[in-house]
Amino acid sequence: MAATQDLAPISRAPRVLPRLLALEAGLTIGELVIVGMPIYLWAAAVGEAPVARRAAVPLAVALWLATACRLWDVLRPVATLLAAKRARLPVSAAEADAGQRALWRAPRESAVLRFVAWLLLPALILAFRRGAVTPLAVAGVLGVTAFHAAAVACVRSLCLDRVLGDFTPEILPNLAGIRVFARGWRARVVEVAVATFGLSHALLASLALAFVEMPPRALAIVSLVLWPALAITAPFWFRSLLRRTRPIADYFDATLGSAGTRGPAREEPRAVVAFVAAQALPYRMAGYQAFILATAGVLAVAVARRVVAPDFEASSAARLVAGLAAVVVAGCLYEVLVLRAMLGPLMRHLGSRHHLPVHDIRAGVGLQAKLVAVFVGASGVTAGFVALYHAAPDAAGAAPAGMLLCGLALVIGLVVLIARALVGPIKVLESRSDEMARGELARPVPPSGEADEIGRLSIAFEGMRRSLRDRLRSTESINVDLEREVRRRTEALERRNQDLREALDKLRRAQDDLVRSEKLASMGRLVAGIAHEINNPINAVINSLGPVAEALHGIAVAPTLTDAVERARGVEEMLRVVERGAGRTKSIVQALHNYSRGDETVERDVNLARSIDDSLDLLRHRLRDVRIEKDVDPTAHILGFPGQIDQVLMNLFTNAAQALGSRGGTIRVTAHFRDGDGEVELSVSDDGPGIPAEILPRIFDPFFTTKDVGEGAGLGLSIVHGIIDRHRGHIDVDSAPGRGTTFRLRFPGPGNLGTVVARGA
Ligand code: ADP
Repeated sequence: MAATQDLAPISRAPRVLPRLLALEAGLTIGELVIVGMPIYLWAAAVGEAPVARRAAVPLAVALWLATACRLWDVLRPVATLLAAKRARLPVSAAEADAGQRALWRAPRESAVLRFVAWLLLPALILAFRRGAVTPLAVAGVLGVTAFHAAAVACVRSLCLDRVLGDFTPEILPNLAGIRVFARGWRARVVEVAVATFGLSHALLASLALAFVEMPPRALAIVSLVLWPALAITAPFWFRSLLRRTRPIADYFDATLGSAGTRGPAREEPRAVVAFVAAQALPYRMAGYQAFILATAGVLAVAVARRVVAPDFEASSAARLVAGLAAVVVAGCLYEVLVLRAMLGPLMRHLGSRHHLPVHDIRAGVGLQAKLVAVFVGASGVTAGFVALYHAAPDAAGAAPAGMLLCGLALVIGLVVLIARALVGPIKVLESRSDEMARGELARPVPPSGEADEIGRLSIAFEGMRRSLRDRLRSTESINVDLEREVRRRTEALERRNQDLREALDKLRRAQDDLVRSEKLASMGRLVAGIAHEINNPINAVINSLGPVAEALHGIAVAPTLTDAVERARGVEEMLRVVERGAGRTKSIVQALHNYSRGDETVERDVNLARSIDDSLDLLRHRLRDVRIEKDVDPTAHILGFPGQIDQVLMNLFTNAAQALGSRGGTIRVTAHFRDGDGEVELSVSDDGPGIPAEILPRIFDPFFTTKDVGEGAGLGLSIVHGIIDRHRGHIDVDSAPGRGTTFRLRFPGPGNLGTVVARGA
């Protein structure tokens, strides 16, 4: 990953050298036209053209080579750095520092060298001149050369800065972004101003030569008068620049001072002030400069008129002033555009790093007013050039046509630049809105620059992107929180479920224990009654055995057959009593055996009629005074645990018998399949005293009893309830004082017998 990041800028780097060469060629041509040509024309005018020709060409070549070598020399640390970076060698801090200084020094040093070199050319011509030259002509040529050379030097510095700027991210990655801009941004504003001034002068001088009949003396005077005018006004302009750019400098001081920190706060108030200052700066500085140039120009023309009149006619002066107006307007518009482009990185940085309230940064002049001003200005310049062309003196030859073309090119350039400045931000907005439509909200929308209509649109767009992204983020984070919460709760729920399951298991075990112990207790109570119950038939058997033995003996000694038959009949009678007694004992023992069955684990088919009979049999001793009514379907059977069903019946019958007490009464028991749903319904009712309404809701509670100690522990019905639950059945009670009590039980029918047996197995 790091390797590809390093490679990206390096792969771009080779383009820099051709660009440098092309730039150097362009700048040299520009210098020859803007600086060299006036010097040559001047030399021709003062009769020194041969000297100029002889001196200029070798001098220019020598100078060109010298400055190119010097530029290369200055840039040597940059080349070293680049080579090291490409070879992936470590770079020391000192080397990086040297590279940084070279990048900054090279454009300026080259500009100063060329400026000095161009000033040397007229000095050389003057040194080798053949004839006499007036001081005015010397001052004039030096003044004009200084203007023009300064302008192209500034253009050179600005262009070199730009081309070399491509190296900056590669060799100085730490100096990216706004830090690159912050280096010498004020100097660049001054360079733009000087370049505009010098180029305007060059253009005006060309206009004067092409369109205006004007003695060279007048031209020299105009140029010379500009100097003091400039000297007086430049400090004011510079002071204004310092004042107007102070908020920007303050912002840089506050935010770039501490390298490596997280940077300034989003709500930094200095950013708002800096933005407002940066937004107004191009208009103010260009306007101020246009005013100075216009005033100084008019003043210079007036002075020249006064000094060289009548050679310098009023009509010529008027044409010169018209040309001045066109040049000032064009220069002002170009300067605004260049400064706007120059300040663009700062405005974009401020707009993307800080919150800029729209009402605080709203541009004073709207887009419409700006466009109208630009098009009126461009039309004015065109009209000015066309008018000057038509008014040009016939003697001027092809120069006016050339100048007209030059003027038109100037206007077309202006229109193209404005169209680009307008369309650029709209294109960016278009592509970003496409991105946003695809749901890509991470990349900020850079502010287009000034807070005019398009700028505010991009600010609003950025606001929309931010709020959409924040919404999305907060929704995502809410989702994440929710998921986490749901997971936490689910885990807690699972833990609780586990606890509950364990508690339920314990409860089941306790219930089983309870059932078992209650069963033992009730068996204990039963045994007493049953012992008595068995006693009677056994007594009958035992009591019969003696008479049977006697009767058998009597038969043996019977005197007559009739007597023996008589005695045998008596034996038969007694044996029937023995048989009944033994049978009764057997049935009681069987019932007891059924009842005392151990823990059952597998559900079985339970025949309700047999269970009812067994239970009634075991309780017979308690039901002596009770009439039993049975309405039992002999086929009624359910799926379950027979021992537990017996216990249910025992408990219900015991409760009914206890309710009837010694007064006696009727117990009615029914069991049959219900129509329709195949369920089995079993009911036990008595016509005892019934259950009072206030205790009815509590009868199934464990340990609730109304009976005396020894009669009941209050567990009977709660065990019944538990057993019915285990059989997936249902129990309800219908009772009222005086109306008896009915317990109604429902069990799932044996229709699901197969499945449950399988499960139990
Ligand atoms: P116990 O029989 O040991 O008291 P139970 O849980 O079997 O415990 O019965 C709870 C209470 O319900 C009894 O004390 C009694 O008051 C009442 N009860 C139960 N069955 C009947 C009934 N058939 N008639 C009147 N009351 C009854």
